[in-house]
Amino acid sequence: MQFFMNLLQKSIRPDLTRNFSILTTIMKQKSDGSNHKRISILGATGSIGTQALEIVAGKRESYHIVGLTGHSNWKKLSALANEFQPEWLILTDESNRSQFEDSLSYSPKQIDYSADALREMSKDSETDLILNALVGFAGFSSTFEALKAGNKVALANKESLVVGGELLTSIPGFYEQLIPVDSEHSAMWQCLVGENMGSIEKIVITASGGPFREYSKDKMRSITVEDALNHPNWEMGNKITIDSSTMMNKGLEIIEAHWLFNIDIELIEPVIHPQSIIHSIIEFKDGSSKAQLGPPDMKVPIIYALSYPNRHTLNVPRLDYQKRMSLTFEPVDFDKFPCVQIAIDAVKEGGIKPAVMNAANEVAVERFLNKEIRYIDIPVLIEKAINNFNQTDITSPDVLFEIDKETRIFAKTLLK
Ligand code: NAD
Ligand code: MG
Repeated sequence: MQFFMNLLQKSIRPDLTRNFSILTTIMKQKSDGSNHKRISILGATGSIGTQALEIVAGKRESYHIVGLTGHSNWKKLSALANEFQPEWLILTDESNRSQFEDSLSYSPKQIDYSADALREMSKDSETDLILNALVGFAGFSSTFEALKAGNKVALANKESLVVGGELLTSIPGFYEQLIPVDSEHSAMWQCLVGENMGSIEKIVITASGGPFREYSKDKMRSITVEDALNHPNWEMGNKITIDSSTMMNKGLEIIEAHWLFNIDIELIEPVIHPQSIIHSIIEFKDGSSKAQLGPPDMKVPIIYALSYPNRHTLNVPRLDYQKRMSLTFEPVDFDKFPCVQIAIDAVKEGGIKPAVMNAANEVAVERFLNKEIRYIDIPVLIEKAINNFNQTDITSPDVLFEIDKETRIFAKTLLK
């Protein structure tokens, strides 16, 4: 089977090998003789990690948790570990090492306390699926190592593709091993099952517009941390909640879609859809469009990534089409939300620019949350950082780590 996969990979487009890989996945599951998918969750204590574990808690006959990781929230990691009893635990911030170990009610085979250990867990050949639910650039290495080792990755960590799209997509097997968790990309993926990538005319990526969709530019000057952390439709970690409010999240997602589907950036069109029911739309060359609909609940795309290519039952409230419901669309206001264009320009320029943008955005968000800069300073800071660095190609992960480090140092000095 591997022989034919190799032959196919050499001779035809990635989209066709992807459909073929669905077949091989099914065959592998059948020949294993076991019904459990062995899953490691990186970032288990976060919003995505916790929701994934809530799904697994109700489906123990389908999934077995082999590894869990957390950063500083040792109490939560310990509670999750005691419930799921994985063989391998990683707490990347080791300040509370002894309290953490004392709080465990079983003996894991392995406990580690470093970012290196995250990379090792990602490479583990005993795991069927790595769910990367880390936040920010900290998630890149795990995606890189997991794919290089031939592991399947359910990717929530969109920053991996934003900073290192070129490196990741050049790993043989990228298109077969990676499945998106982000709701818009899961929607695109679901619309594309069975389709030929050459038939796509464009991708319409939907955005809720966040809490400030109807604010005037003037009103945006006085946005507080509390205002920005209050998203109308989704409950998420702090970083992505701020990214959604500035719409940098949509910028990151446009870059994510560009790499994930190998599609020209000009063919990805953002649109505001405040109800967050349609998660994205694919328009085909013959005038037909496919959209994926669902309640605004991340468990829906998470379970799709966990169960792919199958579908498992999930008890979330269904959409009620017998009730009057409006689905509306409006264009993005690029003037009010400059981060969308900043992201599009960065990926068009390529090289280190998206990585600089990402690092500057992470610093800007953190500094806004610490009340060091104003809300409207976020895009200003990012642009200053992008303009500060000369263009260079990203030829290896080391170049990426270096530019990420330098950008963070620089971005912390801005707007003092
Ligand atoms: P979160 O902040 O709730 O959780 C992040 C996780 O990463 C935590 O487990 C934390 O301990 C860990 N972590 C943080 N910094 C770390 C570091 N330096 N080293 C190691 N581990 C670290 O974030 P989230 O909202 O769950 O988002 C996770 C990813 O999924 C992000 O990339 C986000 O953009 C993406 N995403 C999230 C949602 C959502 O609804 N939350 C939706 C779509 C995509
Ligand atoms: Mg999304």
